[in-house]
Amino acid sequence: AEEMMIRSEKMSVSGQLAAGIAHEIRNPLTSLKGFVKLLQTGHERKEDYFKIMIEEIEKIENITSELLFVAKPMTDDRNEVRLSDMIADVSTLLQPQANLKRIDLQVEMIEDPLLYCDKSQLKQVFINLIKNAIEAMDQAGVIRIKAHTNADKCHIDFVDEGPGIPLSIMHKVKEPFFTTKKEGTGLGLMICNQILEHHHGSLSIFQNTEKSGTTFRVSLPLPLQ
Ligand code: ADP
Ligand code: MG
Repeated sequence: AEEMMIRSEKMSVSGQLAAGIAHEIRNPLTSLKGFVKLLQTGHERKEDYFKIMIEEIEKIENITSELLFVAKPMTDDRNEVRLSDMIADVSTLLQPQANLKRIDLQVEMIEDPLLYCDKSQLKQVFINLIKNAIEAMDQAGVIRIKAHTNADKCHIDFVDEGPGIPLSIMHKVKEPFFTTKKEGTGLGLMICNQILEHHHGSLSIFQNTEKSGTTFRVSLPLPLQ
């Protein structure tokens, strides 16, 4: 019975995804169609229309490229990887984006374990979380990436100084296509969740109490010694 339940849960996720994709792609397409029709009638605000049309095309582009990642079968390319190596790669990649907003990425490795994981997938998780943290902050500040282990788990915290997540939407943020951003796809956290489940890990969310901001915690099992 338990296996059945797990399976039907998975089916509903793909059903939910399919419905979401249809909806999310139809909206920009409807808008594109409208503007093409306007252009057909020889309207003069051509430049404005082209600008909006390009934005709508970019939305579809973003959604489809993130979906390609979801659709890609989970290859099982797992190895023992040093956590600090992955964090270093990812922060190098995102440093320019952080610099633009004068955000400092600070890494604090209390412990630096070897993780048994698919390196590119786990890096994708870290990238999505740091991107969200950068996007959440509208002024200069610090994003802290902290890692520690206890017993049989490794915890990696991504702590931002953004406004935090309102309690009223907290239960929805991991759902596919849920976004509060104009340019968002709402797929980032769902992808994180999916990758972490494949690694027998989890993603938890905490509101920071001292300052404002959110902490996303990635927890992963440590390889048996
Ligand atoms: P997207 O970034 O495309 O909106 P995500 O799945 O990555 O999609 O995130 C879903 C939503 O969760 C965001 O639109 C935002 O409302 C909320 N969220 C995620 N990370 C943070 C964060 N660090 N601070 C505040 N809100 C966040
Ligand atoms: Mg995101």
